Amino acid sequence: MSVLVYAEIAEGTLKNTSLEAIYYGSKVAEQTSQSLLVLAIGKAENTALEIAGNYGASKVLHANSSNLEVANIVAYSDVLTQAAEKFDSKIIITAKSSLADAVTARTAGALQAGVVGNVTELPDLSNGFTVTRSIFTGKAFAQTSINSDVKILGLKKNAISPEVSDVKATIESFNAEISEGAMNAKVVDTIKATGVVPLPEADLVVSGGRGLKGPEHWQPLLDLADALGASTACSKPVSDLDWRPHHEHVGQTGVKIAPNLYIACGISGAIQHLAGVNSSKVIVVINTDPEAPFFKAADYGIVGDAFEVLPKLTAAVKALN
Ligand SMILES: Cc1cc2nc3c(=O)[nH]c(=O)nc-3n(C[C@H](O)[C@H](O)[C@H](O)COP(=O)(O)OP(=O)(O)OC[C@H]3O[C@@H](n4cnc5c(N)ncnc54)[C@H](O)[C@@H]3O)c2cc1C
Repeated sequence: MSVLVYAEIAEGTLKNTSLEAIYYGSKVAEQTSQSLLVLAIGKAENTALEIAGNYGASKVLHANSSNLEVANIVAYSDVLTQAAEKFDSKIIITAKSSLADAVTARTAGALQAGVVGNVTELPDLSNGFTVTRSIFTGKAFAQTSINSDVKILGLKKNAISPEVSDVKATIESFNAEISEGAMNAKVVDTIKATGVVPLPEADLVVSGGRGLKGPEHWQPLLDLADALGASTACSKPVSDLDWRPHHEHVGQTGVKIAPNLYIACGISGAIQHLAGVNSSKVIVVINTDPEAPFFKAADYGIVGDAFEVLPKLTAAVKALN
């Protein structure tokens, strides 16, 4: 028996969230006295996959063929299902993502598995198999017991802090039969926004609210984002007013993010905004109002005018580079 981690490849490398899932999988394997296998699907060089070893995997199964180069939910689910069957994996782990959610949903159907997403801790095995998951946009936790033979866990981003070694994993190719229907819908072209890390993947985010007073005042925020290599986000009113594009709107009704660093400039910290950003590891708030609710959720707070603070932060970051 083995614990199987499905690791996503993006741009030829393992996604950071998948590396967290691999580390989490190694701990579950230890807990349950099983071996750990990692399944990576898509195009990547062996050198890019060996890094899985740093996070506790000794072996990576690599499934790669022309019809797996572009993410395909049916085909990826076929591969994951067959790997789980072949290696008798009763615990399957992924990092939570829109692709992994879709792939594991199909896999769960094929394997009659119970699926739990947004998992934040190692399972409790003292009385069956119980996992803790984040619910209500991070405001509460639920204990969920999984009774099915096969269990699929989707790990929440930033829920654990991996310890990294310099061990390299060995890579073994894995071939699966892809269902005929898998290629009925085919991605023929992908046009990417250039120079921008998609918000759900971003490690660093600089975000602006109505306190920046208008779209013409965004440059100091963009300068800081540029110096940090960060993605940019905004509050809902800002996108409603068309100061910034709608895809930057974070919060309860926008994109939910969990970067390592979230810098909020001129944002009050309404509960609906916090719902989308409160899983960030470190929150920095810049606001003129010392009573702004966001300060209660902040790790670091700067009471000050964003237009004075932002250029100073940018200069400090540039001085470090
Ligand atoms: C159903 C529902 C869903 C919602 N979903 C979302 C959501 O997903 N995301 C979201 O963001 N909101 C959402 N909202 C709106 C939310 O309630 C708040 O109204 C919104 O987040 C406020 O945006 P803001 O902080 O940019 O603006 P404001 O509330 O106007 O706050 C501006 C802040 O800037 C500060 N400020 C002013 N000048 C400066 C300066 N020069 N330097 C620094 N600070 C300054 C002020 O002190 C103030 O705290 C939702 C509301 C509802 C009812």
